[in-house]
Amino acid sequence: MTLPVKDKFVMPEGMIYLDGNSLGPLPAGVTEHVSTVVADQWGGNLIKGWNVDSWMTLPTRVGDQVGRLIGAPKDSVVMGETLSLKVYQALSAGLKMRPDRKVILSDSGNFPSDLYMAEGLIQQLEQGHELRVVAPEDVLEAIDGSVAVVMITQVDYRTGRVHDMDAVTAAAHKAGAVMLWDLAHSAGAIPVDMTASNAEFAVGCTYKYLNGGPGAPAFIYVRPDIINDVNPALSGWLGHESPFAFDLDYRPGAGIERMRVGTPPVIQLAALEHALKVWDGVDMRDVRAASVALSEQFIAEVEAACPDLTLASPRDAAQRGSQVSFHFSEGYAAIQALIARGVIGDFRAPDTMRFGFTPLYLDADDVSQAVAILAEILRDKLWDRPEYTTRQRVT
Ligand SMILES: *Cc1c(COP(=O)(O)O)cnc(C)c1O
Repeated sequence: MTLPVKDKFVMPEGMIYLDGNSLGPLPAGVTEHVSTVVADQWGGNLIKGWNVDSWMTLPTRVGDQVGRLIGAPKDSVVMGETLSLKVYQALSAGLKMRPDRKVILSDSGNFPSDLYMAEGLIQQLEQGHELRVVAPEDVLEAIDGSVAVVMITQVDYRTGRVHDMDAVTAAAHKAGAVMLWDLAHSAGAIPVDMTASNAEFAVGCTYKYLNGGPGAPAFIYVRPDIINDVNPALSGWLGHESPFAFDLDYRPGAGIERMRVGTPPVIQLAALEHALKVWDGVDMRDVRAASVALSEQFIAEVEAACPDLTLASPRDAAQRGSQVSFHFSEGYAAIQALIARGVIGDFRAPDTMRFGFTPLYLDADDVSQAVAILAEILRDKLWDRPEYTTRQRVT
């Protein structure tokens, strides 16, 4: 399939959207689908919807759709809650698999929520666990026999730097540790092969490159050969072997279903299920090739036209995910000035301007136009206005 497929998305006229790494745009048809689910299924069928509209199987059905994009077999991925919760679930299950070890190894390029969830879990367990956070380039050598779980986000949310999934997983396993990957900036961005990696756990969100909408539920993958030994920490009724038996004791369900917790967010899952149709017939290798081309073009044009910016991302495309970041001391204001002119990027403290390249709805013309506007903002200091320098709650 030739990319982009712009007609699969609803994009405001004149907007160049370089923030699909943070919140994907609205795929075509989702509005109509969600409105049918609300009006006909909820409105018309009410509680019968759980059966006649198959609401109850949405988490595994959508899980299989996501699974295809991350190289996971059928019945190994399930949807639910937010990514932070899925991190907690996977991490607690991983720690249970190595009761004699006390170290969770992560890196300083991880998204803070993952680290916070680990801290909270450690406090809750009160078993003397330790969160060890090393620099991203030191991860491999920090993996030793004390590590219970290696918990790494594959693509750095600020710089786009990519960890080698197979190499890190192999090192974790060699040291006897359990591997947990966070694919928040990988799923839908770069080719991922969970089966080939042999990692035990993976988690990720679906509102970034998977375009599921704000608050779309997260996914969790568990390697099929271990799932029936996994002990879920969040033992809600829908992860029970037989939820509608209403037993007083918890017994984990069969397979990946045990990673479910409570009532699924049906409307949000319906939006996601429809949104995932944009990937029908799309090969992640084509997406990757196009994303590398757009990112290389962006870097070359920015460096030629914007001498005040310095590249914050790895220069080698193979070491980079689907985003490019630049340092600029007035980055916040510059991003606000860009947004005011219809070019949407975002800012990550203290000085990083971040741009996502999503080949499903971006082409080379969009990149050139965005750089031209950015160059003008920098050359004429158009960012230097009070309305651009005042920080908003969400950056
Ligand atoms: C986006 C992101 C999150 C966000 O977690 P939510 O619970 O969905 O808000 C967590 N971890 C990583 C690595 C992320 O990139």
